[in-house]
Order: sequence, then C-alpha cells, then structure tokens
Amino acid sequence: MTARQISKMTKPVQRPWFETQRIRDDLYCITEPHYTWENRANLWLIKGRDADLLIDTGLGVSSLKLYLADLLDKPLKVVASHVHFDHSGGCHEFDEVYIHHNEHRALCSGDQRLILSAPEFGFIPDSDFESFPYQGFSASEYEVRACPQARAIGHGDVVDLGDRAFEVMHLPGHSSGSIGLYDPARGQFFSGDVVYDGELLDDLEDSVVVEYLESMEKLLGLATDEVRPGHYRSFDRRRLRELVGEYIDSRKAPRCPAET
Ligand SMILES: [Zn+2]
Ligand SMILES: [Zn+2]
Repeated sequence: MTARQISKMTKPVQRPWFETQRIRDDLYCITEPHYTWENRANLWLIKGRDADLLIDTGLGVSSLKLYLADLLDKPLKVVASHVHFDHSGGCHEFDEVYIHHNEHRALCSGDQRLILSAPEFGFIPDSDFESFPYQGFSASEYEVRACPQARAIGHGDVVDLGDRAFEVMHLPGHSSGSIGLYDPARGQFFSGDVVYDGELLDDLEDSVVVEYLESMEKLLGLATDEVRPGHYRSFDRRRLRELVGEYIDSRKAPRCPAET
C-alpha cells in the first residue's frame, strides 16, 4: 500500500463540502471550511431583483451549483475575481460566467499554470484538506476544469442585477486579470485578492508589483464602507486605507541615502 492510499483511507469525507453564512437577506458568504484557512476563499452570493450574482466559485472539488440550488431562484451571473484555483475552480459548472479579458483564455482552456494549480508549484497538498470532498479524492490529481463558456469583461463594464449594479474595476498586480466589483450606490466593494486583511501576494506566476501599486493607489480614494474580500474577514473604509497604505509603504522603493 502506498502512502497516498493510506492518506486516502484516513481522511474522512465531508458532506456538504460548503458552509453558508447569511449576512443579510441579499448577501451570503459561502466557504469551504475543511480546506486550509490560508487559501480558503470567500464566495459571495448577492441576491438582486432580476438576477443573482455569485462572485467566485471555490476549488471546484464539490458541486457548488447543486449546493446552492435552494438559494437560487433567478438567472445567475457568475464573476471570477481572477483565475486562481481557489476562486475559479467551480466556474465550469455555470452557464453565465465572466472573467477579465486578461485571464479569459486561461479560464476557457484550463491553463493550470496561470490558475496556479500546476503540480510543479506544489500549492495544493493533501495536508491542506482536513477532510476530503469525496471518497478517493487526491490533492495530487487536482486540477481546475476548463470553462470554455466563460465570457470576457473589462474595466468599466457593469454587472446589472435590476435593482443594483456593480462596476468592474480592473486592479492588476496580484494577477493580470484581477478585478474588484464596486456598487457605488451602496458603497459596497468586493475586492477579490487585490486587498484582504492578511498577507497580500505579489510574487506569483502572473504578479507585477508596479501594477499592484497603481491598483492600490486607486483604492485609497474609494468611497466604500463595506469591503467584502476574497479571503478572511470583511472590513470598513478605515481598515481598507490602512491595508492599502501598509502595502504601498512596504513596496515603494527605499529612497537613496543621499535623499534622507
Ligand atoms: Zn489569488
Ligand atoms: Zn485567493
């Protein structure tokens, strides 16, 4: 018996795989609580009048579409904040899927390098799963399924739910196609991995620090009192400015000694 077979046998199977927190009647946060908290994404379901919006889809190791069926009673628009596996893994299940055009091809074709799920990165070990989503699951065989039906969106596009609308903000740096979704009427901002209350990552396959700095400068003036991030806890405008300021300070090139 190989070590992998032993690990398959020793991890319990967890059903349902997801957990839902109802924040308001029109806002739900779905997570994968048996996956490591460090990479566990927040998936946001926003209920609109004419359509619902799902921001991000998790790892794709269990059917999110089936899990959400009771909550969905209108057409569903799915937007991936970016192509990384913890956000885009379940996109292939849905009909109306959007992603920024810089990462559109990667999601349509299932480019495991840009998705960060290529085995050589080693980002998805069995040890990151406290339980498994199904019998026989092996993290070493994990990959994100291609989503050829995905459509491309860009900066300034609007995702309209009838009684409310979200503006697409292109905020590259963490990855080239990272976006935020901003509802100016409610001052609500869904930030994906651009900013969350934890260590921000700018050294990945497709990260560019100077672009990240430009994106962060744009967020300093954003009129929001409710930031709903791709990971960890939600926060307000004050904390947004702190997090953005800390990142900018940490990445701006140090001044040459003669200037100080
Ligand atoms: Zn990411
Ligand atoms: Zn992430």
